[in-house]
Amino acid sequence: MSYKSELYQQVILDHNKNPRNYRKIEDATSSCLGHNPLCGDRITVYLKLDADNKISDISFSGDGCAISKASASLMTTFVKGKSIDDVKVIFDEFHKMIIGELDTGKTGHHLGKLTIFEGVREYPARTKCASLAWHTLKCSLEKKGETTME
Ligand code: ZN
Repeated sequence: MSYKSELYQQVILDHNKNPRNYRKIEDATSSCLGHNPLCGDRITVYLKLDADNKISDISFSGDGCAISKASASLMTTFVKGKSIDDVKVIFDEFHKMIIGELDTGKTGHHLGKLTIFEGVREYPARTKCASLAWHTLKCSLEKKGETTME
């Protein structure tokens, strides 16, 4: 097993066992329920924005496979404190990375530790698990209330 896939396994296991920001924010600015019918993952993302349109707090709840939960957990720790504009850039890069349109070793990016999910591109059925939390975050920013992965 390569160093990267070993690290990937460890991160997935750790965040699945001990998900970060796994709670409901009672006074959230907005929230959205995301559903991935292919796998059965259901995740709600809660957001709190401050006056400068920065994410002052973010959390998630729900249930899903290890990848969807670990991705949601890692996402919440990564975007907290960031502005909506930053999050849009990161969302776009993350999406391109997992569908294989962005090679993090060759192209500049802002993904930091999120590059752990780059290996998901090898498993097309799992890319929706990894991106569900991100689509749900986007949905929450757009205040749509609900989103389903097509
Ligand atoms: Zn899943």
